Amino acid sequence: MPFYPVRKDFAFDVQCHAKCGHTLKSNVATILCDEHGTEYPFGPTCARNHLDEDGAAQLRRIPDFTKAAPGQDREGGKRVDGEHSGGGVRDDEAAKFKRIVTYMLLRQERLAHIPGAQLDVLGQYHAAYLEEGALSDDAVRHIGNIEKKTAGGRYGYNNLQTVYAFDRCIERAIRGIPEDRRSFVGDILRYLRDNLYLTQKQIDGLDKWLKRIDGYLPLDPSGFWKR
Ligand SMILES: [Zn+2]
Repeated sequence: MPFYPVRKDFAFDVQCHAKCGHTLKSNVATILCDEHGTEYPFGPTCARNHLDEDGAAQLRRIPDFTKAAPGQDREGGKRVDGEHSGGGVRDDEAAKFKRIVTYMLLRQERLAHIPGAQLDVLGQYHAAYLEEGALSDDAVRHIGNIEKKTAGGRYGYNNLQTVYAFDRCIERAIRGIPEDRRSFVGDILRYLRDNLYLTQKQIDGLDKWLKRIDGYLPLDPSGFWKR
Protein backbone atom coordinates (compact mmCIF):
# COMPACT_ATOMS: atom_id res chain seq x y z
CA MET A 1 0.00 0.00 0.00
CA PRO A 2 1.57 3.28 -1.06
CA PHE A 3 1.65 6.57 0.76
CA TYR A 4 -1.06 9.13 0.19
CA PRO A 5 -0.72 12.91 0.51
CA VAL A 6 -2.55 14.78 3.27
CA ARG A 7 -1.36 18.38 3.31
CA LYS A 8 1.44 20.83 2.81
CA ASP A 9 2.45 22.44 6.05
CA PHE A 10 5.21 23.95 8.12
CA ALA A 11 7.54 21.40 9.69
CA PHE A 12 10.50 22.44 11.81
CA ASP A 13 13.65 20.59 12.72
CA VAL A 14 12.84 17.56 10.59
CA GLN A 15 14.51 15.86 7.68
CA CYS A 16 12.83 14.45 4.63
CA HIS A 17 11.50 10.99 5.50
CA ALA A 18 12.90 9.59 2.23
CA LYS A 19 16.37 9.59 3.79
CA CYS A 20 17.67 11.65 0.91
CA GLY A 21 19.68 13.58 3.50
CA HIS A 22 17.82 16.83 2.88
CA THR A 23 16.64 19.10 5.59
CA LEU A 24 13.29 20.49 4.50
CA LYS A 25 13.68 23.75 2.70
CA SER A 26 12.15 26.86 4.24
CA ASN A 27 10.64 24.57 6.88
CA VAL A 28 7.89 23.45 4.55
CA ALA A 29 6.94 19.80 4.07
CA THR A 30 4.56 17.76 2.01
CA ILE A 31 2.98 15.44 4.57
CA LEU A 32 2.30 11.90 3.41
CA CYS A 33 0.42 9.23 5.31
CA ASP A 34 1.13 5.49 5.29
CA GLU A 35 -1.50 2.75 5.51
CA HIS A 36 -1.50 2.95 9.31
CA GLY A 37 -2.38 6.63 9.21
CA THR A 38 1.07 7.72 10.39
CA GLU A 39 2.22 11.02 8.92
CA TYR A 40 5.70 11.71 7.56
CA PRO A 41 7.29 14.91 6.20
CA PHE A 42 8.79 14.86 2.69
CA GLY A 43 10.40 17.38 0.38
CA PRO A 44 8.43 18.03 -2.82
CA THR A 45 10.47 15.80 -5.13
CA CYS A 46 10.68 12.90 -2.69
CA ALA A 47 6.95 13.22 -1.98
CA ARG A 48 6.19 12.74 -5.67
CA ASN A 49 8.58 9.80 -5.89
CA HIS A 50 6.75 8.05 -3.06
CA LEU A 51 3.32 8.39 -4.63
CA ASP A 52 1.61 6.30 -7.26
CA GLU A 53 -0.35 7.97 -10.04
CA ASP A 54 -3.51 8.46 -7.98
CA GLY A 55 -1.52 9.85 -5.07
CA ALA A 56 0.34 12.24 -7.34
CA ALA A 57 -2.96 13.47 -8.78
CA GLN A 58 -4.22 14.07 -5.24
CA LEU A 59 -1.33 16.48 -4.61
CA ARG A 60 -3.32 19.12 -6.46
CA ARG A 61 -6.25 18.82 -4.07
CA ILE A 62 -4.63 18.61 -0.64
CA PRO A 63 -4.72 21.67 1.62
CA ASP A 64 -1.69 23.92 1.50
CA PHE A 65 -1.05 26.07 4.56
CA THR A 66 2.25 27.49 3.33
CA LYS A 67 1.33 30.17 0.81
CA ALA A 68 3.12 32.87 2.82
CA ALA A 69 6.44 30.98 2.67
CA PRO A 70 8.08 31.94 -0.60
CA GLY A 71 11.22 30.29 -1.90
CA GLN A 72 9.87 26.75 -1.57
CA ASP A 73 8.49 24.31 -4.13
CA ARG A 74 11.71 24.47 -6.02
CA GLU A 75 14.11 21.64 -6.40
CA GLY A 76 16.38 21.81 -9.40
CA GLY A 77 14.77 25.07 -10.44
CA LYS A 78 11.34 23.81 -11.38
CA ARG A 79 8.03 23.41 -9.67
CA VAL A 80 7.48 19.86 -8.57
CA ASP A 81 4.23 20.20 -6.74
CA GLY A 82 1.98 18.28 -9.09
CA GLU A 83 0.96 21.56 -10.60
CA HIS A 84 1.49 20.58 -14.21
CA SER A 85 -0.61 22.39 -16.73
CA GLY A 86 -2.67 20.68 -19.37
CA GLY A 87 -5.48 19.38 -17.17
CA GLY A 88 -7.68 22.37 -18.04
CA VAL A 89 -11.04 22.23 -16.29
CA ARG A 90 -9.91 19.49 -13.92
CA ASP A 91 -6.98 21.61 -12.79
CA ASP A 92 -9.31 24.54 -12.16
CA GLU A 93 -11.65 22.34 -10.19
CA ALA A 94 -8.77 20.90 -8.15
CA ALA A 95 -7.33 24.37 -7.45
CA LYS A 96 -10.73 25.63 -6.32
CA PHE A 97 -11.31 22.62 -4.08
CA LYS A 98 -7.84 22.99 -2.57
CA ARG A 99 -8.39 26.66 -1.80
CA ILE A 100 -11.76 26.05 -0.19
CA VAL A 101 -10.63 23.13 1.96
CA THR A 102 -7.53 25.08 3.00
CA TYR A 103 -9.68 28.06 3.92
CA MET A 104 -12.07 25.95 5.98
CA LEU A 105 -9.25 24.15 7.81
CA LEU A 106 -7.40 27.39 8.54
CA ARG A 107 -10.48 28.72 10.30
CA GLN A 108 -11.70 25.54 11.98
CA GLU A 109 -8.39 23.88 12.92
CA ARG A 110 -5.15 25.73 12.28
CA LEU A 111 -6.26 29.10 13.64
CA ALA A 112 -9.02 27.84 15.93
CA HIS A 113 -7.14 29.52 18.82
CA ILE A 114 -7.87 32.92 17.30
CA PRO A 115 -11.12 34.53 18.44
CA GLY A 116 -13.68 34.75 15.65
CA ALA A 117 -11.91 32.30 13.33
CA GLN A 118 -14.37 29.46 13.77
CA LEU A 119 -17.85 29.67 12.31
CA ASP A 120 -20.82 27.44 13.14
CA VAL A 121 -21.63 26.86 9.49
CA LEU A 122 -18.03 25.90 8.70
CA GLY A 123 -18.10 23.58 11.71
CA GLN A 124 -20.84 21.52 10.07
CA TYR A 125 -18.93 21.22 6.81
CA HIS A 126 -15.72 20.47 8.68
CA ALA A 127 -17.35 17.59 10.57
CA ALA A 128 -18.71 16.17 7.32
CA TYR A 129 -15.31 16.55 5.67
CA LEU A 130 -13.54 14.71 8.49
CA GLU A 131 -16.07 11.91 8.31
CA GLU A 132 -16.28 11.49 4.56
CA GLY A 133 -13.06 13.06 3.29
CA ALA A 134 -15.13 15.01 0.81
CA LEU A 135 -17.39 18.05 0.55
CA SER A 136 -20.74 18.28 -1.18
CA ASP A 137 -21.15 20.67 -4.12
CA ASP A 138 -23.35 22.83 -1.91
CA ALA A 139 -20.67 22.97 0.76
CA VAL A 140 -18.01 23.91 -1.78
CA ARG A 141 -20.24 26.67 -3.12
CA HIS A 142 -21.13 27.99 0.32
CA ILE A 143 -17.56 27.98 1.65
CA GLY A 144 -16.48 29.60 -1.61
CA ASN A 145 -19.00 32.39 -1.01
CA ILE A 146 -17.75 32.93 2.55
CA GLU A 147 -14.20 33.02 1.24
CA LYS A 148 -15.07 35.60 -1.42
CA LYS A 149 -17.02 37.74 1.01
CA THR A 150 -14.12 37.90 3.45
CA ALA A 151 -11.43 38.56 0.83
CA GLY A 152 -9.14 41.45 1.78
CA GLY A 153 -10.32 41.45 5.40
CA ARG A 154 -9.25 39.94 8.71
CA TYR A 155 -10.69 36.55 7.84
CA GLY A 156 -9.76 36.59 4.17
CA TYR A 157 -7.82 33.69 2.65
CA ASN A 158 -4.58 35.63 2.10
CA ASN A 159 -4.64 37.09 5.57
CA LEU A 160 -5.26 33.76 7.28
CA GLN A 161 -2.41 32.15 5.31
CA THR A 162 -0.11 34.96 6.43
CA VAL A 163 -1.24 34.91 10.05
CA TYR A 164 -0.79 31.13 10.18
CA ALA A 165 2.74 31.30 8.76
CA PHE A 166 3.86 33.93 11.26
CA ASP A 167 2.06 32.17 14.11
CA ARG A 168 3.86 28.88 13.44
CA CYS A 169 7.27 30.48 12.90
CA ILE A 170 6.98 32.69 16.00
CA GLU A 171 5.95 29.70 18.12
CA ARG A 172 8.96 27.78 16.84
CA ALA A 173 11.27 30.73 17.51
CA ILE A 174 9.98 31.09 21.08
CA ARG A 175 10.94 27.49 21.85
CA GLY A 176 14.54 28.40 21.06
CA ILE A 177 14.67 31.53 23.21
CA PRO A 178 15.56 31.37 26.93
CA GLU A 179 12.46 32.01 29.04
CA ASP A 180 13.67 35.28 30.51
CA ARG A 181 14.14 36.75 27.03
CA ARG A 182 10.87 35.78 25.45
CA SER A 183 8.79 38.85 26.26
CA PHE A 184 9.41 40.76 23.00
CA VAL A 185 8.50 37.87 20.73
CA GLY A 186 5.70 36.75 23.05
CA ASP A 187 4.15 40.23 22.88
CA ILE A 188 4.29 40.14 19.08
CA LEU A 189 2.57 36.76 19.02
CA ARG A 190 -0.21 38.08 21.26
CA TYR A 191 -0.58 41.15 19.04
CA LEU A 192 -0.80 38.93 15.96
CA ARG A 193 -3.51 36.77 17.51
CA ASP A 194 -5.51 39.78 18.70
CA ASN A 195 -5.26 41.84 15.53
CA LEU A 196 -4.49 39.33 12.77
CA TYR A 197 -1.69 41.40 11.32
CA LEU A 198 1.73 42.80 12.21
CA THR A 199 3.17 46.22 11.46
CA GLN A 200 6.32 46.54 9.38
CA LYS A 201 8.15 47.65 12.52
CA GLN A 202 7.11 44.48 14.32
CA ILE A 203 8.08 42.34 11.34
CA ASP A 204 11.52 43.97 11.22
CA GLY A 205 12.02 43.53 14.97
CA LEU A 206 10.93 39.91 14.74
CA ASP A 207 13.32 39.08 11.97
CA LYS A 208 16.45 38.66 14.06
CA TRP A 209 14.63 36.14 16.26
CA LEU A 210 13.16 34.22 13.34
CA LYS A 211 16.59 34.04 11.72
CA ARG A 212 17.63 31.73 14.53
CA ILE A 213 15.35 29.02 13.18
CA ASP A 214 17.41 26.58 11.10
CA GLY A 215 16.60 26.93 7.43
CA TYR A 216 14.31 29.88 8.01
CA LEU A 217 13.49 32.00 4.97
CA PRO A 218 11.67 35.31 5.38
CA LEU A 219 7.90 35.03 5.15
CA ASP A 220 5.86 37.16 2.78
CA PRO A 221 3.83 39.67 4.84
CA SER A 222 1.98 41.14 1.84
CA GLY A 223 -1.12 39.08 2.60
CA PHE A 224 -1.82 40.90 5.88
CA TRP A 225 -5.16 42.72 5.65
CA LYS A 226 -3.61 45.77 7.28
CA ARG A 227 -0.04 46.96 7.68
ZN1 LIG B 1 13.85 13.95 0.27
